[in-house]
Amino acid sequence: MNDPTPSPARAQPLQAVGAPPAHMPLVLIIEDEEPIRRFLRATLEANHYRVKEAGTAREGTLLAVMIYPDIILLDLGLPDGDGLNVTRAIRKESRTPIVVLSARGQESDKVAALDAGADDYLTKPFGVGELLARLRVALRHSIGAGGRRDDSGQNASLFTCTIDRRTLRVDLAARLVHVTDVAEGQDPGVSREVRLTPMEYKLLAFLVRHSGKVLTHQMILKEVWGPQHTSDVQYLRVYAGELRKRLEVDPAQPRFLITEPGVGYRLSDGGT
Ligand code: CA
Repeated sequence: MNDPTPSPARAQPLQAVGAPPAHMPLVLIIEDEEPIRRFLRATLEANHYRVKEAGTAREGTLLAVMIYPDIILLDLGLPDGDGLNVTRAIRKESRTPIVVLSARGQESDKVAALDAGADDYLTKPFGVGELLARLRVALRHSIGAGGRRDDSGQNASLFTCTIDRRTLRVDLAARLVHVTDVAEGQDPGVSREVRLTPMEYKLLAFLVRHSGKVLTHQMILKEVWGPQHTSDVQYLRVYAGELRKRLEVDPAQPRFLITEPGVGYRLSDGGT
């Protein structure tokens, strides 16, 4: 019994129920096992999400591009196709965050799903608290990517990160990049605009949209240069080097654009 207990009794909100947020995110569940769908629906609705369900790869792929969900929960084992292919098909049309739910827990399965375009991966059985937390993270990233904004009044397309004495600020809506250095005793510091070529900006914007997450070379190349360039790792190295010259205090000791050896890159969000 690898799946979460499909008992409605467990589908209680984790926090006190208050007024629902003005925009209730729409979740598309693509999962063939009806009891799991029912469990997910009850859990999500109790936590102020709206839910649509699909039981097959075909239906899920169609709904993903028709109903504009805010997030997709995707099972990998579907009766009429593999979830990896569903992910690839959706990615051709949409950047909606995809969180994979699967009983396959091998690292290679996770890597394959992330390379196919999924944003996150949860291994069954999973806890409700973790599921909800992953959904919140995926939604935050998609809002940063220019998706729907919440109603908190915050400018969701603005990325700022301060490490040591330097602040990197990227305004995705205005396409502006600034760095601000604060010397000792000097506040607020001197800000200057960073000029980037269109390709440098495209790379930085993609990293910003997934800040804090490790992105493989293949994921970055596919999104920034296109699917035919997924093995051109040298492009990426050159451009990462250029970005570091412009963004880092010491390009040889990068603090913002971190190399994940043998894997890819991560834009620090200040968390680590
Ligand atoms: Ca299944």
